[in-house]
Amino acid sequence: TYHIRLVVFGGGGVGKSAILKRFLLNTFNEKHSPTVEDLHYCEFAIGTLTLKVDFLDTAGDNQFPAMRRLSIATAQAFLLVYSVDSSGSFEDLKKCFDEIREQRSDFQDIPIIVVGNKLDLAAGRREILKEDVAEWVFCEMPQLCVKVMECSARDNINVREVFKAFLQLSKIS
Ligand code: GDP
Ligand code: MG
Repeated sequence: TYHIRLVVFGGGGVGKSAILKRFLLNTFNEKHSPTVEDLHYCEFAIGTLTLKVDFLDTAGDNQFPAMRRLSIATAQAFLLVYSVDSSGSFEDLKKCFDEIREQRSDFQDIPIIVVGNKLDLAAGRREILKEDVAEWVFCEMPQLCVKVMECSARDNINVREVFKAFLQLSKIS
């Protein structure tokens, strides 16, 4: 049995809660209701293994620094989310990563998935290229357990793949 705590970080409104909701409940809500902190728990059977995952959904702004410090301290993996239609949200993600790097001396061993959400809006409104994100990751995150992906919680594109990648990086599947 594995028990893993996955923390979801990123700026406000990028779709952190929407990605989790799509993955865990297969639903989507057009409305934005800001999160303070939500903990979801889920068990998965992988072959003969039982995988228990705590998904910690966070606020993603600077309102709750003490809470954020605690979530960073207890995380065993991170989902860092930005929105492909917002270059500002990628700047927010960089700040999140800086905090992780400052607080976790073991950050090179922590699986990190960098996810560009709202891929459904990319056609007309893309502000961030996946290649540019990959380049930043290559420079700033020298660890091996990092992956860059894009998804759409709204249209259910690539969401399951994000969580598969998380399992792979955590060396579970
Ligand atoms: P959070 O603050 O990061 O948790 O963001 P939410 O999950 O609350 O989503 C913020 C807003 O973006 C909501 O209005 C969602 O409906 C919308 N949203 C979330 N994911 C997507 C997506 O994949 N595509 C589009 N077009 N909108 C999305
Ligand atoms: Mg939220």
